[in-house]
Amino acid sequence: MDFCLFCKIVAHEIPATILYEDDSTIAFLDINPVKPGHTLVVPKVHGADFRESQVHDLTAVIETAKKIAPAILKTVGAQGFNFSSNVGAAAGQVIFHTHFHLIPRHNGDGLVNWPHEGATQEELAELGNKIRVQL
Ligand code: 5GP
Ligand code: ZN
Repeated sequence: MDFCLFCKIVAHEIPATILYEDDSTIAFLDINPVKPGHTLVVPKVHGADFRESQVHDLTAVIETAKKIAPAILKTVGAQGFNFSSNVGAAAGQVIFHTHFHLIPRHNGDGLVNWPHEGATQEELAELGNKIRVQL
């Protein structure tokens, strides 16, 4: 499948600031960064999201993130990073080719991830039981 935006970046058909690529993955700077150095780590094989991608492609994404994160953090002077994937429109996904955001973080940078709803021990236990029967 080479119809989607990220497939076109994988194929070098449209430009991107590529930091790294190998047989299975490509990593390039996000065009609209949350923080400097915000990078997208992408399996080359098209899958709409995490649920569709093969485990070996997701493993390769982790390997690439391990490889490139130190260089990104060193370059922008960050102390940590968030590494996550928006899976589905409900989670904020807008590009339907699996990708992970690597967002450099500085101590006290003020970026808030999300608020916690909280739950009681009973609610956690009940929900845990319901989820486990689905596995
Ligand atoms: P999502 O919300 O799907 O998880 O994130 C998609 C990300 O892709 C966004 O952060 C957005 O800025 C980035 N993006 C969208 N179009 C392009 C593009 O053409 N080039 C690059 N480098 N990033 C893009
Ligand atoms: Zn694609």
